[in-house]
Amino acid sequence: DTQRKIIEDSIRDIKDFPKPGIVFKDITTLLNNKEAYGVLMNHLYERYKEYDLDYIAGIDARGFIFGAALAQMLGLGFVPIRKQGKLPYTTISEKYALEYGVDEIEVHIDAFGEKKGARVLVIDDLIATGGTANAAATLVNQTGAECVECCFVIGLTFLDGIEKLKEKTKVYSLIEV
Ligand code: IMP
Repeated sequence: DTQRKIIEDSIRDIKDFPKPGIVFKDITTLLNNKEAYGVLMNHLYERYKEYDLDYIAGIDARGFIFGAALAQMLGLGFVPIRKQGKLPYTTISEKYALEYGVDEIEVHIDAFGEKKGARVLVIDDLIATGGTANAAATLVNQTGAECVECCFVIGLTFLDGIEKLKEKTKVYSLIEV
C-alpha cells in the first residue's frame, strides 16, 4: 500500500558497508524524513495498541529509536537490551553467533517489573540471521516476562532468520526484502 511505499522509499541502500559485498539498509534517511518516520510510527501504534503490552524492549542501538518512541505513544515503559558491558545494575546475558565469532547482549534482571509474565514486544530496525533477536527474546523470557512478538522495520528474507525466530515467538516485519 501507499504507506508501506513511503517507508520503503525512505530507506537507503549503501553498497559495500561495513565491508565489500554487503548492501547495508540505512534507516537514517527514514528517521530524518518526518513524513516517513510519522507514517511508520503511526502504523506501529495502530498494530500494537490492541496487544495489551506491558513493555517495549528495544535492541541496541537502532531498536532504541523506534522502541522508545512507540513506548511513549502506547503509554508504556521502555527497556533497553544492550551490548555487553553497558548496563550498570545486575544483568542476565545471552551470547549469539555472528558470521565470525560471538557477540553478547544483556538486560537488567528487574527491567520488566516485580510480577512475572509481563507482556513484552521486542523491536529492532532489521532482522538478518535472527541471532540478535533470538538472544533478545531468550533474555526477555529468562527474566520471567513473556516475549509476545518481535517487530522489525525491515526483514531480510533471503536468510532464514525470520523462519527460525518464528519457532520461538511471533514475528512481524513491515518491509520484507
Ligand atoms: P542478525 O542478528 O543477523 O539478525 O542481525 C541483526 C542486527 O544487525 C540488528 O541489530 C541490525 O541493526 C544489524 N544489521 C544487520 N544488517 C543491517 C543493515 O543492513 N542495516 C541496518 N542494520 C543491520
